[in-house]
Amino acid sequence: MKHCFLVAGVLAAAAAMAARAQSSAPVTPERLVAEAKRAAGLDHAGTFLRICVAPDNLNAAPRPPPAAGPRTVPDRATWYAAPYKVFDDLYFVGTRIHSAWALTTADGIVVIDTLFDYAIEPEIVDGLSALGLDPRNIKYVLISHAHGDHDQGAALLQSRYGAKIVMGAADWDATLQRPATAAGGVPKRDVSVGAEGTKITLGGTTIDVIATPGHTRGTISYVFPVHDRGRALTVAYAGGTAFNFPREAQNFAIYRDSQKKMGDAARGAGATVLMTNHTEFDRAYDRARLAQLPRAAGEKHPYETDQATVLRYFEMGGLCAEAQRLSMESAN
Ligand SMILES: [Zn+2]
Repeated sequence: MKHCFLVAGVLAAAAAMAARAQSSAPVTPERLVAEAKRAAGLDHAGTFLRICVAPDNLNAAPRPPPAAGPRTVPDRATWYAAPYKVFDDLYFVGTRIHSAWALTTADGIVVIDTLFDYAIEPEIVDGLSALGLDPRNIKYVLISHAHGDHDQGAALLQSRYGAKIVMGAADWDATLQRPATAAGGVPKRDVSVGAEGTKITLGGTTIDVIATPGHTRGTISYVFPVHDRGRALTVAYAGGTAFNFPREAQNFAIYRDSQKKMGDAARGAGATVLMTNHTEFDRAYDRARLAQLPRAAGEKHPYETDQATVLRYFEMGGLCAEAQRLSMESAN
């Protein structure tokens, strides 16, 4: 009789364990990718494809150093975009492929990302003028990370207009090693952002600059306010996205942790607008043009979503990075 109770007890414990195992299937890269796909939904499908389905560094050769000397400028018809006023105080001055923005304040302009060298004059300098803004009022230039498609305009805006360049500390170190002949030239070190981040305030507008290493070691992201017909909205701007860094488990862990950090910052600030610096990730070129259309009463701005949609972006990024990290771990 005593023996029977013991057997029954063991069976009950085994059943409970089996139930637990069923409810928490083992964490695998495939399961994380499936979770990332759910997090991406329809809103972030482009980014999901780029970093979760076929990461750039899966079979990639190391990134070549930037070529010195004259370079070929792609056919203007493939990249030129007209400038657009998108919010009361935020203007799109990017190309069809890369974003650059002008945030206007009572005391001047903050430019966010600066494109390749060939696009700086037609898009940012001429674009601001066409929008009725004076490029001489540019006070700060925020560089999300030191890759040519975002930073080659920095030196010109610094030397011509005296704008202060804000960049992550590790990316300043990389930038300052470039030869003087590098495309766009080499800016002088101004504001260097460490792991603790910083705040840039101009004319009563404060941009929370958050260190989000991963895409590069010095990648920075932002949380800042914009206004839509007088109504305040909060933007979470992701400063680096693609997995084109060296394919090492530690790099994916750093990237994953930065997505968590940015998600927390976006949640804390109540961000309902998600922006990135490539138009493929946030449909910036389409949304900038949609913002020109009349809206029905109560219709949202084309960039405005809700907090859950913004948070799913960073959740997806973290899951994609963790899937890659885990796949490398299980391959060893
Ligand atoms: Zn990049």
